[in-house]
Amino acid sequence: MAMITLSCQNNSPSMSNEKNTQHTNNPYYSRTDTTVLNVPDAEWKKVLPDSIYQVARNKATEMAFSGKYWKFEGLGIYYCAVCGNALFRSDSKFASSCGWPSFFQTIRKNSTIYKTDNTYGMSRTEVLCGRCNSHLGHIFDDGPPPTGKRYCMNSIVLDFVPDKQ
Ligand SMILES: [Zn+2]
Repeated sequence: MAMITLSCQNNSPSMSNEKNTQHTNNPYYSRTDTTVLNVPDAEWKKVLPDSIYQVARNKATEMAFSGKYWKFEGLGIYYCAVCGNALFRSDSKFASSCGWPSFFQTIRKNSTIYKTDNTYGMSRTEVLCGRCNSHLGHIFDDGPPPTGKRYCMNSIVLDFVPDKQ
């Protein structure tokens, strides 16, 4: 009987809140506060879903063609899924064959910060959130005009918010 009760609770109609659940335990998430955060990984581990934590703080990379935004074309703004920092507008997103969402410029100059990454025998530039210092992806020089840059991002660390009509 206990098992039946549990499964009934899991199916209770609370799905409308699903979109926000990943931030309810995260007191640092704000789409308006741009104060730079200095939160230790141990604290992020407590407040972030593990799937986000693995990419954002352990620099994991999601599988190509697996993320929710690589082929997505909605109009709006992409925010950092860790802290809510505004990162990209949809008009700087372009169709890339790499299998990850790709952008040619950030929404503000200091939306992101950069770090040399020499792991895996490659010399790459890592892209981190300018507010919470979370790993977002890498930047390459094979993007389209006007910048020639390709911000190759992990969908899981992006939060898309559509423009209001
Ligand atoms: Zn962030």
